Amino acid sequence: MIIIMDSKATDADIQAVISALDERGYGHHVSRGVERTLIGAIGTPDGEKQAMSDRLMTIPGVERVVAILRPYKLVSREHQEETSTVYIGTAAFGGGHASIIAGPCTVETEKQTLEAARAVKAAGAHCLRGGAFKPRTSPYDFQGLGEDALKILAAARDETGLPVVTEARDVRHVELVARYADAIQLGARNMQNYDLLKSTGEAGIPVILKRGLSATVEEWLKAAEYVAAEGNLNIILCERGIRTFETITRFTLDLAGMVAAKQETHLPIILDPSHATGHHSLVQPMTLAGLAAGGDGVMVEVHPHPDRALCDSIQQLTPRNFEKLMERVGQLAAALGLQLG
Ligand code: PEP
Ligand code: MN
Repeated sequence: MIIIMDSKATDADIQAVISALDERGYGHHVSRGVERTLIGAIGTPDGEKQAMSDRLMTIPGVERVVAILRPYKLVSREHQEETSTVYIGTAAFGGGHASIIAGPCTVETEKQTLEAARAVKAAGAHCLRGGAFKPRTSPYDFQGLGEDALKILAAARDETGLPVVTEARDVRHVELVARYADAIQLGARNMQNYDLLKSTGEAGIPVILKRGLSATVEEWLKAAEYVAAEGNLNIILCERGIRTFETITRFTLDLAGMVAAKQETHLPIILDPSHATGHHSLVQPMTLAGLAAGGDGVMVEVHPHPDRALCDSIQQLTPRNFEKLMERVGQLAAALGLQLG
């Protein structure tokens, strides 16, 4: 850690920092510049850095405390330089591979899900998505069919061969979802549900970890570290838009954040242009932009009849529009030298 003193810090302030470090048994190194003094703390264990930093910030004259080592270890590029390839069934994400996950927002009926599954398979998708436990802003909205939906998804996998991705909204769902699905999705609203993160880590099956609506990249990576710390490094991060002042789109797709996150972590990162934009007309352009920017895959909502969908109807693609999207994705992947699937 480096403690940066402000330009008006006195010798007594500097001494107070040194004493605080001494008290905890840490060494120090002082460099006095023309403008300001920097104090390097030596030997602070990673687990204590945050608490120590908070404490140092209360000392007058301390402007900032900077941790040198990343607060997320296992998922960081310091730990592993090469981008990981994570598999959901046979679909590969990362390390030069990108896969497309497609399907309805939610499983409504067997007929609707099978129709969607057949359509996305025919168009070249690599995984099927569909919500069984829906995180809804209103308690009166459709909450998902639960285990019945999981059975429908498993039937769709049996017929199409597509591996299945679905959300576990609660610790109580993890075991059940793991029994039916090929990957567990952790939704944006649950990114900092630490018990859920730990139990998906323990479950050992691939995890898609969505970025929280108002989470920083660092918080997102720390959330991934919770899963990794349980011994499960089969994690795919998903940028799904963050909340900003802008209302013309449902959220703001943070592509720069996605790229910045990729510089920090070896985990693959996909994007969800459906939830990020909230409008079907924006899904294709953002898919292409995201893959061009280095995304390792895309998750797209596709419904056989978006006008009749129980949720997120405006953002879901028709099968025909998904087919068009896949054609463009194929052209882009060829130009980028990106292997699909
Ligand atoms: C979803 O993908 O079904 C979903 C609810 O997304 P998010 O958690 O990103 O809102
Ligand atoms: Mn949705």
